[in-house]
Amino acid sequence: MNLILLGPPGSGKGTQAKLIVEKYGIPQISTGDMLRDAVAQGTELGKEAKKYMDAGQLVPDEVVIGIVKERLQQPDCEKGFILDGFPRTIPQAEALDKMLEELGKNIDAVINIQVPEEEVVKRIVNRRSCRNCGAVYHLIYNPPKEDNKCDKCGGELYQRDDDKEETVRQRYKVYKEQTEPLVEYYEKKGILYNVDGTKNIDEVFNDINAILQKFT
Ligand code: AMP
Repeated sequence: MNLILLGPPGSGKGTQAKLIVEKYGIPQISTGDMLRDAVAQGTELGKEAKKYMDAGQLVPDEVVIGIVKERLQQPDCEKGFILDGFPRTIPQAEALDKMLEELGKNIDAVINIQVPEEEVVKRIVNRRSCRNCGAVYHLIYNPPKEDNKCDKCGGELYQRDDDKEETVRQRYKVYKEQTEPLVEYYEKKGILYNVDGTKNIDEVFNDINAILQKFT
């Protein structure tokens, strides 16, 4: 099963991707996580990407396309994958189509998680992520059992540099301008499924599961 999770920043793509990984055993490919790893490791790619990420802008298409191309060829993607945060522009979607054609694969479903701007802002400023395993918490809706400590691995929780309100609003604007056109792109292909992302985590996962039944 090959999936794309689409939706604005803070719509719950990462959270839902992790639940899909647990239930269906296919890997999550998060370009945001991969870029943050590169930043943490201080690689050339990381240094280049950080400038864009801190400003709430998209990293250039050719950079992310290269990362995804390499990742999709790893053996664990044979049984399927979840793209989380990619594609984010029409050129990325077109490049993905080309890549998949070369690999003899196709996308089964694009899950579009819909959440309005004010809700996104409210969620993201209270978001905390685990430095070690990437698990995501919300200080009000989904708090860790112990302050600043990941329930799953005990790692330290931190606020992402790009999760400050001003940057979040900028990221939402970028989403509207550059990523939302993908909704129509995939609608035309007949593989788009809308999900109401304002419901709680379990309810959204139930709705996603109902869609995924067709592909398992
Ligand atoms: P995310 O964790 O998906 O919210 O991504 C965090 C940041 O990484 C974004 O605001 C972008 O700067 C960058 N990024 C992640 N995925 C992409 C992508 N597909 N294209 C361009 N930039 C990306």
